[in-house]
Order: sequence, then structure tokens, then C-alpha cells
Amino acid sequence: MNSAPLKKAPINWTASITLIGTPILAAILIPLYAYYYDFSVSAWVSLFFLLALSSLGITAGYHRLWAHRAYDAALPLKILLMIGGTFAVQNSILFWASGHRTHHRHVDDIDQDPYSIKRGFWYAHLGWMIRDHSPSEPDYKNAPDLLNDKLVMFQHKYYVPLVIAVHVGVLGGIGWAVGDIWGVVLLGGLLRLIISHHVTFFINSLCHMWGKRPYTDENTARDNFVLAIFTWGEGYHNYHHIFQYDYRNGVKWWQYDPTKWLIWTSSKLGLAKNLRRIPSFNIKKAELAMRFKYAEQDLAIYGHDVNTDITQMKQRIAQEYDAFTLTLNDWAKLKEQELQAKKAAMAERIHQIDHKLKVDFQLLEHRLSHHRECLETLMRNIKKTPVSE
Ligand SMILES: [Zn+2]
Ligand SMILES: [Zn+2]
Repeated sequence: MNSAPLKKAPINWTASITLIGTPILAAILIPLYAYYYDFSVSAWVSLFFLLALSSLGITAGYHRLWAHRAYDAALPLKILLMIGGTFAVQNSILFWASGHRTHHRHVDDIDQDPYSIKRGFWYAHLGWMIRDHSPSEPDYKNAPDLLNDKLVMFQHKYYVPLVIAVHVGVLGGIGWAVGDIWGVVLLGGLLRLIISHHVTFFINSLCHMWGKRPYTDENTARDNFVLAIFTWGEGYHNYHHIFQYDYRNGVKWWQYDPTKWLIWTSSKLGLAKNLRRIPSFNIKKAELAMRFKYAEQDLAIYGHDVNTDITQMKQRIAQEYDAFTLTLNDWAKLKEQELQAKKAAMAERIHQIDHKLKVDFQLLEHRLSHHRECLETLMRNIKKTPVSE
């Protein structure tokens, strides 16, 4: 397959009507209703509450639980996330998660990434859904776990009746309870659906275009705080693409990632377990490797303009890089020792060794932080040095 036949692919009418029809409908009905009846406060509140339900159903459910298996959820939480995800109207868990796994596996590949940014913003954002690029039902070969999941298969089989039932149940229930059914249908139903759609689509489009790449530059994924705010924490997409199995996207404790907080809180309530975290050493390693890369690039750019002995600067960066590599080697050896120890030693002995290893790991992490500080000082010096005449 190449890029040419895409334009000839048949229109997917269900997706087109949903994605293009709903904003048109909203643009007509919402101002009319506001003019003739006005919206109640409850209807506005329902917009935010239901936006959270559907968006978190996608981020914590479809994405981190089902597509990436980043944690295990208890049945009540699974059901709640399934309802939230169904309410977001983004096709079934099976379809969504399988497509998303393909996106990770072939990211940026113009033919194999289903929403490749290499085809441009609009294609990654919306265009890929407007036409049926592969009209036959996907084989779901990359999702054997989901094919064996009863809840996932139930939702897949009864997807359309479930979408209708969830909308009637949730919107009707809340609308009836607050006494403003049409207000809730228009704001909590229609407007919420449009916002929730585009918030998810931004992850495929803008999160591959706008932001920084602190962990890897091997793909287009970006970390972006502003997008994290709109996407319930999914904006830290550069981290996510290198460590997709981590239940956190905003991995630093201070990063805005409500989805991570929801999963963590659920684990404290006994609703989630086995939260997967990438060891901090691996994260620091990736981060530092990228910093060295950027340092070299900066040196190539600024190097000609500064009154510094560039050769000396290059040597110092190279020395730091060597020290960093040595630390990594030490770490790899330690990991090997840990593995051997676990294989060979008795439980009690492992306990003692574990303690020693922990101390050694801490020492190594400390050394890594030291390398980072040295590097930062070096980089500051490069940028501070006045430009020569
Ligand atoms: Zn992505
Ligand atoms: Zn993902």
C-alpha cells in the first residue's frame, strides 16, 4: 500500500456523519436553545462531569488499561471505564486498542501507522477516520489478550446498542434528576461529545507536532504541558512513546496527569493493582542520553560564536559522556549480579543481597544526577559566554 490510494478509499459514512454532523448540529441547536430557553447551571455542570467520565474512560480505560496493560483493574472499575469509553463514541475497545498498538509499533510509518503524522495534521487528527482505508474487519492479531477478555468482547459485540443505552441512561438519568433533559442532552451530550472527540484526536495530531523531546528523538511524539491539561495527562507523549507500558505519562511527580492520579487512587482503594513503572534508572538514562545529544547539537550551533576553547569544551563533554557510559556499564553489571543472585541464592541470602544492591543502585543514581548537573553547568557556560566580534 502507498499513500496514493488513500484518497480513493470509500467514505466511512458512520464516522463522517458522527464527526462532521455533530459539530454542525451543535452550532445550530445550542445557540437556538440558549436564546429561547437558556441553559440551567446543572446542564453546564453536566458538561464538565460527563467530559471527565468519557475522557477518562478513554485515557485510563481504552488507552492505559486495555491498549497498554499498564495496570490491572478490578471488575467494577473495568465496567465503569468501559461505560465511560463507550460514552466517548470512539469505536469498541478492541478496535481502538488494536489500532493504537499498531500506532506504537509503526509510529510515523506513512503506510503502517494508522494515524501517521507524516500524512499531515488533518489526516492524523481526523482524516484517517473519514475514509475506510481497510474496509474489511481488522484481524486483531496484535490483541489476543483482548480477544479473550469477556468484557471487551461483550462491548465489541453489542457496541451500537451499548452506545445508545449508555446515552439514554446517562443523559436521561441526569437530565431527569436535574429537571433539564434538553439542556443536559445538548451540553452534557452533544457539546461534551465533540470536545471529548477532539481532545483525544489532539493526542494523535498535536502531540506528534508541538512540544519537546526529552526522552527520545526516534519518533515525532512530544511532551507538552499545555496539551497535557486538555488531554487529561496524555500530553506527555514523548515519554509515553519510549515507555508505553508505564501507567504514568507525566512521570515526574509534579507533572499534570489526572489519569495517573485516578489509577493511583484506584490502587489505594483496592480497585487497581500491578501498576507498572519503568525503573527510574532507565528513565534517567534515556533523559541523559538525549541531553548529551542536545549538548552536542548546541555546541555545533553556538560553538562558532563563543570565545571559549571549543576543543576543550568538546573534550569535557566527551569526558562526561564517558563517565556516564561507565555508570551505565556498572549498572548493567549490577543488574546481572542481581539476576544471578536471584537465580542461585537462598531466599534469606537474596534479602541481604537485595539490601546491598539497593544501596549500590542509589549510589549509581546519585552519580547519574551528578553527571547531569555537570552537563547542565557546561551547557550554561556555553550559552552565557559572550559572542565574539
Ligand atoms: Zn502517539
Ligand atoms: Zn499509547
